[in-house]
Amino acid sequence: MADTAIKSCRLCPRQCGASRPARGSGEGFCRLPALPAVCRAEKHLWEEPPISGTNGSGAIFFSGCVLRCEYCQNSAISRRSCGAVTDENGLIELFQRLEDQGVHNINLVSPTPYYPTIRKALERYKPAVPVVCNTSGYERAETLKSMEGLIDVYLPDFKYASSETAEKYSQAADYPQAAAEAVFEMYRQVGSPVYDENGIMQRGLLVRHLVLPDNVENSLGVLDWIDENLPKTVPVSLMAQYFPTGGEVHPELRRRITAEEYDQVTNYMLLLGRDNGFFQEPEAADSRYVPEWNMIKKEDKT
Ligand code: SF4
Repeated sequence: MADTAIKSCRLCPRQCGASRPARGSGEGFCRLPALPAVCRAEKHLWEEPPISGTNGSGAIFFSGCVLRCEYCQNSAISRRSCGAVTDENGLIELFQRLEDQGVHNINLVSPTPYYPTIRKALERYKPAVPVVCNTSGYERAETLKSMEGLIDVYLPDFKYASSETAEKYSQAADYPQAAAEAVFEMYRQVGSPVYDENGIMQRGLLVRHLVLPDNVENSLGVLDWIDENLPKTVPVSLMAQYFPTGGEVHPELRRRITAEEYDQVTNYMLLLGRDNGFFQEPEAADSRYVPEWNMIKKEDKT
């Protein structure tokens, strides 16, 4: 395998300039190596209907994250490098294995620190089904440009409208600005959604927002930004699934959202005339909907 180490990493908005060896611990904020580790690669049924459809989405969950949200719903895999380290050959095998299972798409979950390897894999083998980039929204537009033509569907979160909230919960005061630039770049690349005859998204942008307890104002601010900057053909998915994971969080995050909070946000979205989005039932706020992460054991495959 060619040397895949990254000498000075500036892939995400943190732009640490850190050294990331091919394997082991990197020196940047994310502490991640250059080669991706995959925690799970399975058919996934819990995305929005145009993504999961009836056959499921071929989700590849990468370990680690460039954000550090204190309330992370997937902290078992986002806070550390876990799973099987792999390279572009291993990724191509995963793409093909998932395609053989009849999934509607290949869904790259938290790919940000690993774009160089993912790009190499997609340049060699572009799946016959759409490739979905499923991200926190904390992206550098420059980095996303390097993925142009390889990603068909962008599925970013838009978490925060205010720098203070972004800093408070995710140590990322620049999140609103970075996410705005990233979403513009995503829209430039893929535009509004295009669906096949079964309603499965083939191309386009779908923006997600997780409603947090005691943070309705933040959610309304996010919706304002989306409505002012993206056409109504871009759907918004309002997620009600927040649940406290038991970790150290600010006091207001130690409960689920209330029905009233969720109603305030959904009603505002409808008031804005964005009625082509997705909503969740309150029972989505349950840890049962977090996948088990031990499907791929920690072993070095390459
Ligand atoms: S991917 Fe990691 S090392 Fe690279 S800039 Fe982002 S946080 Fe820093």
